[in-house]
Amino acid sequence: MLYAILGDIHSNFDALGAVLEEIKKDRVDGILSVGDIVGYGAEPGPCIKTVSEVVSAIVAGNHDYAAVGKTDIEYFNPEAKKAVLWTSRQLSQEENRYLSNLPLIIELDGMTLVHGSLHLPELFAYIRTFYDAELCFRGLKNEVCFVGHSHVPVIIMRDSTIRAVNDPEVSLRDVSKAIVNVGSVGQPRDRNPKACYVLYNTAERSVKFKRVEYDIARASEKIIEAGLPPFNAERIRWGV
Ligand code: ZN
Repeated sequence: MLYAILGDIHSNFDALGAVLEEIKKDRVDGILSVGDIVGYGAEPGPCIKTVSEVVSAIVAGNHDYAAVGKTDIEYFNPEAKKAVLWTSRQLSQEENRYLSNLPLIIELDGMTLVHGSLHLPELFAYIRTFYDAELCFRGLKNEVCFVGHSHVPVIIMRDSTIRAVNDPEVSLRDVSKAIVNVGSVGQPRDRNPKACYVLYNTAERSVKFKRVEYDIARASEKIIEAGLPPFNAERIRWGV
């Protein structure tokens, strides 16, 4: 099976549209998501509608839960907090219900999906160190865990040691367990502003990171026009 796995869309409908166009060419068997449909950007409604139509499995991100009051936003940065409050006001009852019902963990076809880490998933911890990764690996029953949250694409592999790679194509054939951060569709933070997603071939156990150009200027203008923090518009131009 060939899966496209994407996440951290963050209400960036221009980026989502470009990524879905590219996925059509990939001829995948299914689309999965590691969450954060909303937050930061200007088009939560269209993003929720589209995602709900195209994905076969999706977990909750911290911004998804924050927008519906299911997680505390005290520790969100000021720009994220403003966007969360703005997003909450835009959501219809149906959109609110959709986000509220997203699960924290999904296991399917030998894969696990979680937004932050399998270690206390409801706290949405970041995997920043090998120690963080080890805590996640301890909760991993499958061979591979797909995550988002940091918006930085990377693969952490564990055998007798733990190591990290960020090559565009990686085989996991000889690796016992791996955590794959799929990068971000709507707000990449690895200094590459192109939208990011992953293709995973379950038979070959191969991971391919794909980057897609989209109309960043338009997405950026929409953020300004909505009255959202200008930094949210600026950062998508630079991929930070
Ligand atoms: Zn995010």
